[in-house]
Amino acid sequence: MEATLIKLTDENYFSQEANQQYMSVSQFKAFGGCEAAALASLSGEWKEEESTALLVGSYFHSHFEGTLDKFKKEHPQIFTAKGELKANYRQANEMINCLEMDENFKQIYVGEKEKIFTGKLFDADWKIKVDCLNVKDGYFVDLKTTRDFEKQWIEKEGRNTKVSFVEKWKYLIQIAVYKEILRQNTGINDLEGFIIAVTKQDPPDKIILYFKPEDYEIGMNQVRENIERVMQVKNGLEKPMRCERCAYCRATKKLDRAFHYTEL
Ligand SMILES: [Zn+2]
Repeated sequence: MEATLIKLTDENYFSQEANQQYMSVSQFKAFGGCEAAALASLSGEWKEEESTALLVGSYFHSHFEGTLDKFKKEHPQIFTAKGELKANYRQANEMINCLEMDENFKQIYVGEKEKIFTGKLFDADWKIKVDCLNVKDGYFVDLKTTRDFEKQWIEKEGRNTKVSFVEKWKYLIQIAVYKEILRQNTGINDLEGFIIAVTKQDPPDKIILYFKPEDYEIGMNQVRENIERVMQVKNGLEKPMRCERCAYCRATKKLDRAFHYTEL
């Protein structure tokens, strides 16, 4: 028996109810980070602290969504006591300008903005919100902000290795999932995904990234390999693993056993 799913709108897209009913790329990645924290966020037991980095990203996005004025009203913490924008958000304005002043950006970032789609993938219902979709020319764009374009350390198969910000933040998963859900909705098989990224440097750097067919496969394989476990934990069929390092795990930790210092 299929449960009826809520109709997603701009108002309820990020709601707890929408997150419970639909899988999303960010939710999938959250389960890949710490299952216990991801599950606690879904139930409302835990609320992730809104970091400045996250808020700067939202500020930047809201401009391109056309909702910056609303964002400013809803986030008084981005202003000083004198009513001026704090440095981080003045910097975000630089990042916005660096794209807005670019002729090529203006030609590429054309299409439907922030459109919501849903679809089925590996037996799960998914929701996506596409920054910019250009059906006519067959592509979609996702805007990203990042510290810089230097390679960053990650732990991969027990070893530290340096990767691009695309791999670090698992953006291939997003590109792959978006392409497939958009295929289901538009009927276009060969939509091409781009990431336009801007750095938080002064002055900001910027880049347009394209992807090869094998990149979409890498992203989709990461979903294929983990979705069953994620859905079992989400549906309460498997116990969530605690990472014991994230904010949620630290906040709920109990001193229930002693460790040897070499375990640290
Ligand atoms: Zn954790």
